[in-house]
Amino acid sequence: MGQAVQLIEINLKKIKDVKDQCKVYDADIRSFQAELHFKAMELEITQLDYPMTVCAAETCKRYVNIGKSRERNTIYEQVCHDHCNLSGVPVETTNNEQLRGCAAMYDGNCQHCSHDYRVHMHLTYTTNLVEREFLSDEARNKINKRSNLKSQKESFIAELEDNITELEEEKKFIFECASYFGVFLKENAMIAYNDSFSEYLDMLIREEEAKEKVIRDNKKIAQMKKDKQTYETKKDVIMDSITSGSKDKNDVIPIEKIYEMRQKLCSLKHNGRTLKEALGKSIRKLPFSLKRPRKTYFCGLFTHIFPSRFCLTPKT
Ligand SMILES: [Zn+2]
Ligand SMILES: [Zn+2]
Ligand SMILES: [Zn+2]
Repeated sequence: MGQAVQLIEINLKKIKDVKDQCKVYDADIRSFQAELHFKAMELEITQLDYPMTVCAAETCKRYVNIGKSRERNTIYEQVCHDHCNLSGVPVETTNNEQLRGCAAMYDGNCQHCSHDYRVHMHLTYTTNLVEREFLSDEARNKINKRSNLKSQKESFIAELEDNITELEEEKKFIFECASYFGVFLKENAMIAYNDSFSEYLDMLIREEEAKEKVIRDNKKIAQMKKDKQTYETKKDVIMDSITSGSKDKNDVIPIEKIYEMRQKLCSLKHNGRTLKEALGKSIRKLPFSLKRPRKTYFCGLFTHIFPSRFCLTPKT
């Protein structure tokens, strides 16, 4: 889910750039039509049946440029334990105390890459960023039907603006889901709850801040910090509504609401397909009892959204 947010940011930036270019475009109509293409980014996901431990230290990962654009995809090529048997470690996030126990570690340091266990993380899928044509044939035809350059430009900009709005809405919804899922997990977990969405956002901020000044995107950092604040605030609001009211907390976040949100996430126009793949195929019962016994829990819902120890650590 964190990656979907990152992807939305990348694509929003691209669309906005194209929009700015379009505004100042001043050639003939033929060349305008010829340039009615632009590539957006999409995540290709390959699921693994097991977690692997990779190193996220700066020297152990590699960035690759995709296509003609300068978008960078992070490749975690340093696989320190390719089939890790530790279960319940949050994926995509560093700073996990549990990874001290990974077979790759000795005395807190990795025997393969020598980095601290805290910069390592679990991944249960590998992702690949690919480019795809963003503008549909339908949209292009609609634009081409307009009679002159001015109205074609207007039509194109309107199309771009629609997409910006849609992506921003999707992002908002993903954050809302993350907040609900976070509170839900916290309320129901018997064990210490690890907010991995929040951790993930922190990691992105740290990564961007660590970049050299010339390529560092300060606007992006500010945006991510704002996003994180929004997320925390939203979570607090939900928590307050649980603690203040005499209402049963099951009424505040019924499991049905969680299912419903998952459904909606998977059917989002732009990011639904990716989220569906990322949210996982595994639907199974929780292996341990919750604070209050409930119906069946779809563990797969959480392992990827909030890949926390909540899902996999059996009650002892
Ligand atoms: Zn391991
Ligand atoms: Zn390592
Ligand atoms: Zn390393």
